[in-house]
Amino acid sequence: MTTDPNAGPTIDSTAVPAVNRTHTPTVGSSVAPAADPTVGSATPAARTEPHRLVVISVDAMSDVDVPFARTLPNFARIFEGAWARATAIYPSVTYPNHTAQVTGRTAAGHGIYANELVQPGVRRPDWFWDARAIACPTIFDLAKAAGLRTATVNWPVTGWAPSTDFSVPEIVDRRGLEETRALVREAASESAREYVDRHSELIEWTKKPHFGRFATSVAVDVIREQQPHALFIHLVDVDSERHATGRFTPEVKAALERVDGWIGEILAAIEDAGLASSTNVAIVSDHGHVEVGRCWRPNTLLVDEGLVRVDADGEVESWDAWVHACGLTGQLHLHPEASDDVRARVLELVQGWVADPEVPLEAFHPSADMRERYGYDGPFLGVLEGTSGTNFQNMWDGRSLYTRFDEDYSFLLSQHGHLPEQDIQAVFALQGPDAAQGARIPRCTVPDEAVTFAHLLGLEIPEADGAVVREMLTGDAARG
Ligand SMILES: [Zn+2]
Repeated sequence: MTTDPNAGPTIDSTAVPAVNRTHTPTVGSSVAPAADPTVGSATPAARTEPHRLVVISVDAMSDVDVPFARTLPNFARIFEGAWARATAIYPSVTYPNHTAQVTGRTAAGHGIYANELVQPGVRRPDWFWDARAIACPTIFDLAKAAGLRTATVNWPVTGWAPSTDFSVPEIVDRRGLEETRALVREAASESAREYVDRHSELIEWTKKPHFGRFATSVAVDVIREQQPHALFIHLVDVDSERHATGRFTPEVKAALERVDGWIGEILAAIEDAGLASSTNVAIVSDHGHVEVGRCWRPNTLLVDEGLVRVDADGEVESWDAWVHACGLTGQLHLHPEASDDVRARVLELVQGWVADPEVPLEAFHPSADMRERYGYDGPFLGVLEGTSGTNFQNMWDGRSLYTRFDEDYSFLLSQHGHLPEQDIQAVFALQGPDAAQGARIPRCTVPDEAVTFAHLLGLEIPEADGAVVREMLTGDAARG
């Protein structure tokens, strides 16, 4: 844990990102071998009977939301325990941070360096759905090795998860609702498929899938019927409303109220199972949000320069350089077969963008700098940081810039992916037998959360980029 609000997550300079081994120029779908659950020291701690753990991720919930959330009955119960502001890892987007919450590593260590796979020329790339892309042990691997049973519901990067007993992943088939229902089932663990079958009619689809009602029903049944030692669930509604309507709108408030109801169902299931006094319940979130002022399509500029080449239909034919959008950040990818001359030309072009006030680019950070500062690495030359509120898009056609005053602006109103110590922050709250009642901690990091969860389960993450947030704990858990 760090209490310095300007400090980034701690860095393990010895970690080698597996993504460099697996990246291919056209498709990011190749994955690293599954993390070996026997790797590391998954030795149970002295407390032989750890309490159960339920972790509820309220995507994009911020510290600013806490006073309102505490007027809602179920958020209030959890936030009466301990809570901390939590600094996200870079980039401050969903999949890298949810992977940090179950590995204790930054992206250089866990390998999930973006939400989406790098697929130049694909208009709607796949996301990092597949748990086998994670390059280090997860808390689920360690739990399995220690004989604990785990469950995940709608948690990112859990498709085809190797170690989770009951896994119902967040995964989408772009073709539609029925295809998505089938894919969720296929990517679920075998023992979880009966819960998918029981509730998959609750997956909704308006422009995109909505899993909240479905996920809550699955989690409630798994808690009641299976009583896993740990269950992690991801609820997305607050984030979705922020993107679509803005950071602090009536729709966001309504989403917090809706999520509060779902949390209430989960707490009731814990009570029904007779586990209320022996279960720690955490609420976490993964990043803040920044108001979007403009959308920028740097790949249109790469087309103009001939560094991305399109065919007669406007589809990408070949590329030397590609900017992979990651919210308010973009990664600069160079084709593996590009020459040194092309590399020099691309870097010169990007420096020209930084120097041009008409280009909404604040800085270019080479990968070595990002590794040093944020524990961030991947198969790219470096990171483009937009000016405040600049949302990156992968698209290579249309205009390079769309501002909020443009009549055809039809994009997000709020976004994240920015430097995580800036603006509103994520939260980490803990209630239950090991929670220090009323504790308020100014700052921890998202990797700290995973290390704390492992500690509560009597596990130890072998190479962590965080530490147990002991100020949130009481009794043996605070001392052990
Ligand atoms: Zn998120």
